[in-house]
Amino acid sequence: MALQPWRKGIITRIENETHNTKRYWIQVPELETFDFKPGQFVTLDLPIHEKPNKRSRSYSIASWPDGSNVFELVIVQMEGGTGSTYIFNEWKVNSEILFRGAQGVFVLPVPLDKDLFLICTGTGIAPFRSMLHHINDHNIAHRDIYLIFGTRTRSNLLYYDEFKNLAEKIPDFHYLPTLSREEWEGKKGYVHQIYEELIQKKQPAAFMLCGWKDMIDEARRRIVEMGYDRKSIHLELYG
Ligand SMILES: Cc1cc2nc3c(=O)[nH]c(=O)nc-3n(C[C@H](O)[C@H](O)[C@H](O)COP(=O)(O)OP(=O)(O)OC[C@H]3O[C@@H](n4cnc5c(N)ncnc54)[C@H](O)[C@@H]3O)c2cc1C
Repeated sequence: MALQPWRKGIITRIENETHNTKRYWIQVPELETFDFKPGQFVTLDLPIHEKPNKRSRSYSIASWPDGSNVFELVIVQMEGGTGSTYIFNEWKVNSEILFRGAQGVFVLPVPLDKDLFLICTGTGIAPFRSMLHHINDHNIAHRDIYLIFGTRTRSNLLYYDEFKNLAEKIPDFHYLPTLSREEWEGKKGYVHQIYEELIQKKQPAAFMLCGWKDMIDEARRRIVEMGYDRKSIHLELYG
């Protein structure tokens, strides 16, 4: 497939989501509608290096297609991370950015005729937020959907109220935030224990994993060990 053109984006709004994670709204002035499939990402060209291939950083689109020319990214500042630190320091409302996309094949299975396990840590929740709003907006038929989101403490829960709200609206959608370092009324521990309990029956299921390597490698290994085919597992690896 031919590479998509670089486009100009304008930052229209910035909000803190947690102590090290921000939400950025980006408008694409040259388009009336910025169209994409829930789960896709954009690639940014950041002025952080002379070599173009060292300037790119990809970010999943956290918003859902709504017919507008604005999309949202949710970005965690990595300690010592060149790109994310540049974004946190330099991006202001009205800043101009360069991006390419939407790209990627990490999209919802069609049809949703099996249980769907969406498993993530940190900002890996971004593509799932897009998918779940899309399912809700279009009343897409589905089986049980489990969103298993792992993080350390309550203060790191991204979009918490919003997902609780979606869980009340979308039938058979189960929101399972899981904390590893804080006692609370919800699930405790790591994401792995949560899906392992839910797949004891070995029901037909599709798994979508999003986030960083350690969680993804471990989840893939455990799901295959439970007897599921590798083809039932879809990955978006952040790094
Ligand atoms: C398809 C795709 C979608 C992505 N979507 C998002 C998104 O929605 N939100 C988001 O915040 N990030 C997302 N990322 C990650 C993002 O592209 C950058 O890798 C991230 O912002 C770090 O870049 P940096 O320049 O700050 O760090 P760098 O200076 O490039 O990285 C420093 C080092 O840390 C490693 N590293 C980076 N992040 C982590 C981490 N969390 N845990 C452990 N090691 C890490 C890198 O592999 C590298 O070795 C996505 C990545 C991909 C490939």
